[in-house]
Amino acid sequence: MVSGAGPYLTDADGREYVDLVCSWGPMILGHSHPEVIAAVQEAVARGTSFGTPGEGEVALAEEIVARIEPVEQVRLVSSGTEATMSAIRLARGFTGRAKVIKFAGCYHGHVDALLASAGSGVATLGLPDTPGVTGAQAGDTIVVPYNDLDAVRAAFAAHEGQIACVITEASPGNMGVVPPGDGFNQGLADLCRENGALYISDEVMTGFRTSKAGWFGVDGVRPDLMTFGKVMGGGFPAAAFGGRADVMAHLAPAGPVYQAGTLSGNPVATAAGLAQLRLLDDAAYEKVNAVSAELRGLVGAALGKEGVAHTVQNASNMFSVFFTDEPVRNYDDAKAQESFRFTAFFHSMLSQGVYLPPSAFESWFVSTAHDERAVERIAAALPAAARAAAQATEVAA
Ligand SMILES: *Cc1c(COP(=O)(O)O)cnc(C)c1O
Repeated sequence: MVSGAGPYLTDADGREYVDLVCSWGPMILGHSHPEVIAAVQEAVARGTSFGTPGEGEVALAEEIVARIEPVEQVRLVSSGTEATMSAIRLARGFTGRAKVIKFAGCYHGHVDALLASAGSGVATLGLPDTPGVTGAQAGDTIVVPYNDLDAVRAAFAAHEGQIACVITEASPGNMGVVPPGDGFNQGLADLCRENGALYISDEVMTGFRTSKAGWFGVDGVRPDLMTFGKVMGGGFPAAAFGGRADVMAHLAPAGPVYQAGTLSGNPVATAAGLAQLRLLDDAAYEKVNAVSAELRGLVGAALGKEGVAHTVQNASNMFSVFFTDEPVRNYDDAKAQESFRFTAFFHSMLSQGVYLPPSAFESWFVSTAHDERAVERIAAALPAAARAAAQATEVAA
């Protein structure tokens, strides 16, 4: 891709696409929003990195704390990966314990210890899922099925006094969109408290997207630590972790748990993030939610018309399509879909100028810039894509 404007991306051959990836979530105002670009240009002209806190860093931190009540203190970093890695280090340092519970199908960036994840029998044993991650790096990670409090309870019982934290996506969007069942997040928070572990809610994807206060603004469950990224950077590398002040006090330089970053709180990135957050008022979320609802209806109708088994799931304005009739509650359910139909659907949409996430296991993202014209272009592409999905056949392995 060579340029982006509003809901569109343009590739190196000059073809324009309606973008339903939005850089995997950050571009919630669409591409090249004039006010964000102006804030960036102003910031760039004042210098690009100071190596010490600046006004923009403080203002962005204040905006996060103001929006998200459980965040009493916050530390800025440059990527969601750094945010989750640092939060886990802090949880281990604070509790003096080693083990981490995570859920199959939840993604927390490419932190070595957290790549023991993507399902399969080996994942449940905490074995690395990718070459380059050693057994030792993943050995303290316990992987359990999502939406299964009994499995979490059993993991706590099997490793009594050893669990530093549970980390979960506030509402998962990295196995497709699989929202937490009623009471699941509260159950996690309760189990953590009962067992002296910290509850880390990863809001890198949902933060500032699913509501003004992210998923916390939707379900109100209070975590000990939270992580942010994506939307808060306005299309630049800015991310954060924060939460309880007594826990954050263990971070260096106030406390003993080391954490640092040369470009953290970068003045250009924080200017972009702050400009974007300040534009994200109630009306903006209403707009994004409405576009999402309209698209969910259109996609479901097109697939239904062709008799394609499908389930459209959403968490606020995040949504995805599973090629199965069954509700998807965890990673095993997600993997049971006919993902070969997604492949055909995706390529048909792409050839008609609509860019979807290139995987059946990712959320689709919309923005305030997705206007009627963009929605019409998507609607026009759907019938042929649904037909392609209906006609798709599984390729023998
Ligand atoms: C994208 C994502 C991350 C990783 O963020 P990066 O900025 O890509 O390192 C972590 N957690 C969740 C839930 C994410 O969606």
